[in-house]
Amino acid sequence: MFWEVVAVARRKNKELLELARDIGGEEAVEVVKALEKMKEATDEELAEKTGIRVNTVRRILYALNDHGLADFKRIRDKETGWYYYYWHLETKKLPEIIRAKKMAELKRLKEMLEEETSEIYYWCGTEGHPRLTFDEAMEYEFQCPLCGKMLMQYDNTKIVEELKKRIQELEEELGLAEKPKKSPRKKKGSA
Ligand SMILES: [Zn+2]
Repeated sequence: MFWEVVAVARRKNKELLELARDIGGEEAVEVVKALEKMKEATDEELAEKTGIRVNTVRRILYALNDHGLADFKRIRDKETGWYYYYWHLETKKLPEIIRAKKMAELKRLKEMLEEETSEIYYWCGTEGHPRLTFDEAMEYEFQCPLCGKMLMQYDNTKIVEELKKRIQELEEELGLAEKPKKSPRKKKGSA
């Protein structure tokens, strides 16, 4: 039970850091890590802790806030009358955000699969040279527009397999598909 809790916490943390990376790159990851340790901090304290410029820290904090991953308390200093913003991480919405992100990725992968399976592609075989649809290949008389080599049908079996695998995994994670049942004969460790 304890290790399960630790494993879930680790996965959550990894997902949080991945989201931070999507939002603001490595600097956002550093800000989130610092906030995790400090629990609550001002932008200036975070800048000092991470060595990232305070303007950048502020931009990252607002971006995290936009995504529902960070929030702040505004506290007025009685002596100076200045306001200080104390930031903290907000993880309540994390599962929801991760789910939305996975749904978007699933949609993108399905579109890619649709694109891969609805067209036959032609290619000269040189890495970096374009893959053309049948109509496009016709236009170029089945010669590569870059090198002039003859275009051959492009075998995308591997790409299609890879896409299908990833879609299945995502659908399982999202609870949209059942895990394929394992045969009872193939127990873990008994092979
Ligand atoms: Zn070529």
